Amino acid sequence: MLRLPPHETSFPTSIRQAIAERVSAGAAGAYVAGGTDLYPNMKRRQQEPRRVIDVRRIPELNRLEVSADGTLVVGAGVTLTRFMRDARVTNGWPALAHAASEISTPLLQNVGTVGGNLLLDTRCNYYDQGYEWRKAINFCMKKDGDTCWVAPSSPRCWAVQSSDLAPVMVALDARVALAGPDGERTIPASALYHDDGMAFLTKRPEELLVRVEVPALVGARASYRKLRRRGAFDFPVLGVAAWAAFDAAGTVTAARIVLGAVGSYPKSVPEAAGVLVGGTLADDHLDEAVRLAGKLAKPLDNTDFTIGWRKEMASVFVRRALEEVRPG
Ligand SMILES: Cc1cc2nc3c(=O)[nH]c(=O)nc-3n(C[C@H](O)[C@H](O)[C@H](O)COP(=O)(O)OP(=O)(O)OC[C@H]3O[C@@H](n4cnc5c(N)ncnc54)[C@H](O)[C@@H]3O)c2cc1C
Ligand code: SF4
Repeated sequence: MLRLPPHETSFPTSIRQAIAERVSAGAAGAYVAGGTDLYPNMKRRQQEPRRVIDVRRIPELNRLEVSADGTLVVGAGVTLTRFMRDARVTNGWPALAHAASEISTPLLQNVGTVGGNLLLDTRCNYYDQGYEWRKAINFCMKKDGDTCWVAPSSPRCWAVQSSDLAPVMVALDARVALAGPDGERTIPASALYHDDGMAFLTKRPEELLVRVEVPALVGARASYRKLRRRGAFDFPVLGVAAWAAFDAAGTVTAARIVLGAVGSYPKSVPEAAGVLVGGTLADDHLDEAVRLAGKLAKPLDNTDFTIGWRKEMASVFVRRALEEVRPG
């Protein structure tokens, strides 16, 4: 049985207290919410914080409301179950509710949170293994080693962004509020991520993710399609989020396509989405966007299935995601 390494846990009840504790813990600290990502990682010694700061008792992190201008405001500590079952989310942002429902299992959704999902560690076949397995290959650059087994001559880690909500939040142009010792800042969800499997967040370690703000879908529609081996539960090996706004005649006025699990960050492909603008989403108008998105999807050999098949599937799933966005 895998055991958690020794650590202390605290339960701050305010944002200020949580940040102060995280600052004082320094490199030995980590925030935790549901723990469905952090605790398995600790058991495998991928992450080894000695001071864990549990953020679930902070009231601001449990907000879930729609503000006067129609923005969905989701506290980072809202559980996936609560989020995906809330009628305001299922009616107003069905693609988000759907993406949340595709995450892990009902038991894990009961404790896993929206914030924890957006900050999920990147994944790789050579990293998501027990300590002894990783030791047997002399570890890898992401933890305890110095070689990347996916691309041995590469100076960087290519571990894969594997959150189901992240591509949808980016496609919906959501913003995230981060609180630190110097106050709060709000940035686009797309700016939360780096294309680097190790330093995959732009968030500073002591910054607390407080909430996510998602604009209303006015005159727009969105969808999420996920590829995984097991239908019951599995991390995405490909996720496609699509968003498009339409005029009264059904012509696309703006569009976004975001690919998950094909890089270390949710990868927007504006080159592909841009060709949709000015046309409808009729079948023959999708071809060029589908071709371009498939070309820009560059999966690596560090998750499930073969690279070639996943690349082919990128085009298939982009088409399906766009068909779902089509009005009517
Ligand atoms: C068997 C299994 C299957 C899974 N399948 C999927 C899947 O299909 N898709 C998917 O997307 N995920 C999957 N997951 C991962 C995980 O369950 C979800 O991503 C979940 O939403 C993580 O939320 P959490 O609250 O449990 O995160 P935690 O483990 O609590 O935290 C995750 C990370 O975020 C940080 N963090 C958490 N909250 C904050 C905050 N407010 N501010 C700053 N930092 C914070 C933590 O320090 C940690 O680094 C799976 C996990 C397991 C064990
Ligand atoms: S991509 Fe390379 S460095 Fe990163 S986790 Fe995988 S093997 Fe390790």
